[in-house]
Amino acid sequence: MILPGATLGLLGGGQLGRMFVFAARSMGYRVIVLDPEADCPAAQVADRHLAAAYDDEHAMELLARECAAVTTEFENVPAASLEYLAARVPVRPGANAVAIAQDRALEKTFLREHGLATARFAIVDDAEAIASALREVGAPALLKTTRLGYDGKGQARVDDLDSAQRAFAALGGVRCVLEERVALQREISVVLGRGADGEVRCYPVTENWHRDGILDISLAPARVAEETRTHAMSMATAIAAKLDYCGVLAVEFFVSSDGRLLVNEFAPRPHNSGHWTLDAAITSQFEQQVRALCGLPLGDTRVFGGAAMLNLLGDLWHGAQASAWENILRQPGAKLHLYGKQEARVGRKMGHVTCLGETPELALESALRLKGELGIS
Ligand code: AMP
Repeated sequence: MILPGATLGLLGGGQLGRMFVFAARSMGYRVIVLDPEADCPAAQVADRHLAAAYDDEHAMELLARECAAVTTEFENVPAASLEYLAARVPVRPGANAVAIAQDRALEKTFLREHGLATARFAIVDDAEAIASALREVGAPALLKTTRLGYDGKGQARVDDLDSAQRAFAALGGVRCVLEERVALQREISVVLGRGADGEVRCYPVTENWHRDGILDISLAPARVAEETRTHAMSMATAIAAKLDYCGVLAVEFFVSSDGRLLVNEFAPRPHNSGHWTLDAAITSQFEQQVRALCGLPLGDTRVFGGAAMLNLLGDLWHGAQASAWENILRQPGAKLHLYGKQEARVGRKMGHVTCLGETPELALESALRLKGELGIS
């Protein structure tokens, strides 16, 4: 076990990193953050910030020397950097899991090989492969780049061969996955922690609503049938086991209108749909990440009542910011989290607010009321 007082390394300095740092420091650890950007959200609260590239040799060497263990807060860290560090210090989750999660083709193939249901898909390596991929998958479909897509970026809708070819060109002619466009009944996710010894603890299943491809509201516990709940948890647990995973893992699912439960994607880190655990669970997903990283026993994932989390995007900053805070802070059951980002671009995640209630329905009611008051459509 790596005990409090030790120094932990974190690759990535965004909001997930910031909340990890808060959890680690409140437990008595020191944290060194590596992120090229000055004044990034995690650097503002860390013990030390290395403002360098993710493959900077000097920074890697320093992390390996100073840290008892290293983790990552975003999946696009070069797998080679994780491998370099892993030869010197425990890195959790491991480079292999991160490499699979950062590439949609690897991820989907991994799921298929392990018998875990996904939307129908085919890999498109070049323009010649489009027609056969479309025959295999069928329309309507979505074309997604295999790498660096997030929040609906790097995706295009496909309705026929013509639009598929245009989409492929618009995405830059890079390697893509063509995916069946699923008629969605609901989107849900499972966030879990898996310890170095294979112990798994799942948080209650969360319901997620997106707006323009970006998470808008998460509600927990999800209002889904018991069978869906247990099926989602067992699929997420199987993914973690097959990756020999250590850390917090988030698995996003589609529930299709014809009743299928399909894995959309997984993230090798704490996840936006688990932010509510900060305020409503015995152990937050960030504390769980610290525990898994340090080889501590996992914390209890049970929750107090219901929680509805509302993302606060940069759009809000272009409106009446001062009155927005007043509105949020006036609600005794609403918990405000801001990430310390200076530049409020439209669609950028600037913070979130979690509304608590005795039941998920009551929490959702508060979140929707607040959303209306903030003028979010
Ligand atoms: P992603 O970045 O792949 O998670 O996609 C972002 C959002 O786009 C998802 O949460 C869904 O709302 C929607 N989406 C992505 N893929 C599909 C699909 N195959 N069928 C229907 N909706 C999708």
